[in-house]
Amino acid sequence: MLPDITTNSKMPNLKTTIFTIVNELARAHDAVNLSQGFPDFDASPELLSQVSKAMQSGHNQYAPMRGILSLRETIAATIENLHGHRYNPESEITITAGATQGIFTAISAFVKKGDEVIVLTPAYDSYIPAINLNGGVVVPVALSSEDFAMDIEGIKEAISPKTRMLIINTPHNPSGRIFSKNQMQLLQEVLRTTDIIVLSDEVYEHIVFDGKTHQSVAKFENLASRSIICSSFGKTFHVTGWKIGYCVGPKYLIDEFNKVHQYNVFCVNHPIQKGLNAYLQEATTYLNLGSFYQKKRDYFLKAIGPSRFKFAPSEGTFFQLLDYSAITDDLDLHFVERLIKQHKLASIPVSVFHANHLKNKYLRFCFAKSNETLDKAAAIINKI
Ligand code: PMP
Ligand code: GLN
Repeated sequence: MLPDITTNSKMPNLKTTIFTIVNELARAHDAVNLSQGFPDFDASPELLSQVSKAMQSGHNQYAPMRGILSLRETIAATIENLHGHRYNPESEITITAGATQGIFTAISAFVKKGDEVIVLTPAYDSYIPAINLNGGVVVPVALSSEDFAMDIEGIKEAISPKTRMLIINTPHNPSGRIFSKNQMQLLQEVLRTTDIIVLSDEVYEHIVFDGKTHQSVAKFENLASRSIICSSFGKTFHVTGWKIGYCVGPKYLIDEFNKVHQYNVFCVNHPIQKGLNAYLQEATTYLNLGSFYQKKRDYFLKAIGPSRFKFAPSEGTFFQLLDYSAITDDLDLHFVERLIKQHKLASIPVSVFHANHLKNKYLRFCFAKSNETLDKAAAIINKI
């Protein structure tokens, strides 16, 4: 007889992620897939060629634990140019295996059993399992149901002597909203007298629309000095399958981060770091990303103009929320399933991001797709 190991699960209530479930369902029903956030077009040939050059020229063994210094120097210069804050490339930047590993590592490095972590909901789905796995206690604070702004009073009330960390995400997945400068200043004031660490998920930092500016925590001195920022090259350079990103923060936080990083991954893909560093020397590679995706957003929104879905245009990320309250009273999980099976269109139900399950009538659509895919999706959406 096999030993009964499963009943002793560390995560008895955790199910397979929505991205796996919806992708499998979409494949089985041959649906147009605007669910998981990834582009259906390829990366720049120049980037691919730089990575392959790095492989051909022998950069195929372990990279240094923190990542190659040249890439860390380039990241430091980029952040300084954009946000006016200097991170020391020697000690304040670590290259990670995507933002997911950065987030998991940061939570593992700082959250002890019983520590409270404030999570602004709806929240990207990897935060809460990582907190739970480390014995932390999730304290959810809902973003505004109108415009997904931070509820600064709500955050203030949620803070207790046990609060160890606050996780923020701007530009925000799934809402496509960005936090304003004023909100970030208010957050800075609320935290000023506390010892709370901020984990700032900024993976969509370069995907901001309509002339708005990404408000990185790096722009706010008293936030920067208590924050770890997680970012992802996957989002910026259309290479989500490469799983490479970085974390930056003050030395005292990155030192602790590295204690975990060195044992859960040690170092990440070496030739890709080389290739990215060469490619990043030309700033237009990321500075043009906002206008590139703004065109995609506008194309998609124009195409679904006649539909019964309601929307406020996304301000950043490559996601668009569509409000289906005029179409059905279905729960979003049921509606998503029905759309895949009957209409052959896949999207993400927002309730999986721990939004209010009852009131929530939003589906999330990814517009990082070719115009042909967007046309196909719009034709379906307009008939629903
Ligand atoms: N944070 C957010 C908000 C995301 O949308 C994603 C998406 N993929 C990640 C983190 C993880 O990024 P990566 O693929 O680099 O692990
Ligand atoms: N970040 C992407 C999204 O939100 C993909 C996440 C994943 O597959 N785990 O769609």
